[in-house]
Amino acid sequence: MVGVICIVLPGCAGAGTETKANKPTAVARLSVAKVANGQVTVIEVDLRNEDPFTTGLKARFEQNEITLFQHPVKAQGIYCGLVGIPIGKKPQKTIIDLQWTDSEGRQHSQSMPLQIIEGNYKKEALKVAPKHVSPSPKDLQRIKAEKKKIGRIYASSNHNRLWYGNFVKPLTGNTTSVFGNQRLFNGELQSYHRGTDLRAKTGTPVYASNSGIVRLAQNLFYSGNIVIVDHGNGIFTNYAHLSKIQVRAGQHIARGDQIGLSGATGRVSGPHLHWGVKINGAYVDPMQFIVVISDLLLQ
Ligand SMILES: [Zn+2]
Repeated sequence: MVGVICIVLPGCAGAGTETKANKPTAVARLSVAKVANGQVTVIEVDLRNEDPFTTGLKARFEQNEITLFQHPVKAQGIYCGLVGIPIGKKPQKTIIDLQWTDSEGRQHSQSMPLQIIEGNYKKEALKVAPKHVSPSPKDLQRIKAEKKKIGRIYASSNHNRLWYGNFVKPLTGNTTSVFGNQRLFNGELQSYHRGTDLRAKTGTPVYASNSGIVRLAQNLFYSGNIVIVDHGNGIFTNYAHLSKIQVRAGQHIARGDQIGLSGATGRVSGPHLHWGVKINGAYVDPMQFIVVISDLLLQ
């Protein structure tokens, strides 16, 4: 990856702002410090020179806590975390906060600068059933309850790493609608597209992008039949508008396991697979996410 910046935390050689007794020697870096909304960047924190009893390492991006985990291919003591920039985020200079506690109970923190730039997203018009643009009061109740349920799931990713190796596209069809488009449903601007649409006629097998635990497998108002998979480390994938669900909530699955058949359930203009990726609270571009993980595994 290009544009790696390295931030030397207070106490590191060169920073010279703390006494040796404090000895915080972590080094944190962002894979890319200038990121478009809807994309992912990686934090890397090197604690190898810290004492082994360092605790409470935490990163936070605005309201979202970023799960930090042992780097998948680097030495023990090097941690990483994925930061997803919400699609609606305006271009701005912001920060990622990092905290940890040394063995003597002293807390340390550091802010890492991050610049958010505008992604190159377009508007697209879609024709769908009127009830999916102006839901009835009964449907609004249903939508509210479903949003709450999904919110709870996305807020509770498994702490263990459940994914191994690259994430793969859930089927081979070409992209028919990219992530991030602003969508006009029957002429009304309603939302950003929070996933990638893949061409698939009804009944095409859909495969899990990576291993994990199925957290939701049911019909929702907008998504139709959907499967949400928790991969641990704050990473979720979802598979929507299925004609048939072939897994159940709580089931452990491996990459490439068949989880359902594509279809046209929920708010759609025709059959396809909607594939979504949510990381630490933000939907991100699945195609860019695949590349970020692939780069992480190659380091
Ligand atoms: Zn979609």
